[in-house]
Amino acid sequence: MQRTVSLKLVNPQVHELRQTMIYFRDACQYISNCIQQGASINRGRLQRRYYRGLREQFHLPSQMAQSVIRVVVGVYRSLRSTQKLKCIPTFRRPQVQFQYNRDWSFTKGLVSLRTVITRRRFRFITGGHQQQKYLDDTAWVCGGARLIERKGCFYLHITVEKETPPLKKSATPIGIDRGIRAFAVARVPEAAPLIIRGGSLISYREKMWRLRRRLQAKGTRSARRLLRHLRHREKRFVLDVCRCVAKMVLQYAQRSNQPILVFENLAGIRGRVRTRSKKNRRQLHSWPFLILKKAIFKKAEELGLPVTIVDPAYTSQRCPACGTISKRHRRRNNYRCQRCKYQNNADVVAATNIAWLWLNDVDRIEPGVPSTTQTYRVS
Ligand SMILES: [Zn+2]
Repeated sequence: MQRTVSLKLVNPQVHELRQTMIYFRDACQYISNCIQQGASINRGRLQRRYYRGLREQFHLPSQMAQSVIRVVVGVYRSLRSTQKLKCIPTFRRPQVQFQYNRDWSFTKGLVSLRTVITRRRFRFITGGHQQQKYLDDTAWVCGGARLIERKGCFYLHITVEKETPPLKKSATPIGIDRGIRAFAVARVPEAAPLIIRGGSLISYREKMWRLRRRLQAKGTRSARRLLRHLRHREKRFVLDVCRCVAKMVLQYAQRSNQPILVFENLAGIRGRVRTRSKKNRRQLHSWPFLILKKAIFKKAEELGLPVTIVDPAYTSQRCPACGTISKRHRRRNNYRCQRCKYQNNADVVAATNIAWLWLNDVDRIEPGVPSTTQTYRVS
């Protein structure tokens, strides 16, 4: 598995770093133009043909010239693999890609970078968590690094890698229902569920939405600048919330014996929901389902916990106790079975059903847990 750690350089040689980034960017654009004009995207061939030119024309050190070709080839490869053949990549942002132990490394607690002029060492700042978890732990191995500039500060984004722990056995499905009003987690066999309310995130996003709309209507230059700033801030906030939720979910899961996290496939949710109000639709369309899923996947990967996705079928309508399916069981946030009078929070019911879907899929129904396929009765 891979993670990125951001290091902020202290007292950088601004002019020199900027120059390096600009040369690197221009060299990337140059190679890209050559490919546009018919050069092959084979690394070896590009290297044989353009390596010397890159070094002389853009004053690049040896390793950097190779990195330029690798970066451009990588961009073209990924465009081809995603079928975006007509896309013409442009390299606008000045940045440099470094290779560990070739043109960047750690020496005596400093980070050492090869610029177009010489090799330099910088002091750096990073979060205490990043330092402890990734840099001090020798299990994480350094890889490439990317130098960027933001608001006059220089950041080195380094990639660290560690072997993914082997997946643990799975026996207890933990169903995860991602909703808007509440995000719920439940396990089968039943234990007290975990419910995380989305209230504060909803109101925060509504507030930001209103503010954005006002600024968009204004349309001045400063309004646009503020909009950009707000967009970044909101993104960071949402990401932070999602990470906290992921942490809670994993803590909940680890209390069970051999847990497996079960998600429902939400691919179609945006198309399916039509009848809601305009405000509800807006919330649904921009709700960070995917960000949350990714955050949970990442944490599960670190712990070696298996994750799976099941197809949602009647997860919000089926009664977990008797298996009857009906739309009438659900009244807003409350679920009450009309047949057996089973009652629970609607989101918890959905999460329980998701966990059960996994049990059915793998045909491993524990004694005492009613089978869902046999008692399906659509009323
Ligand atoms: Zn029932």
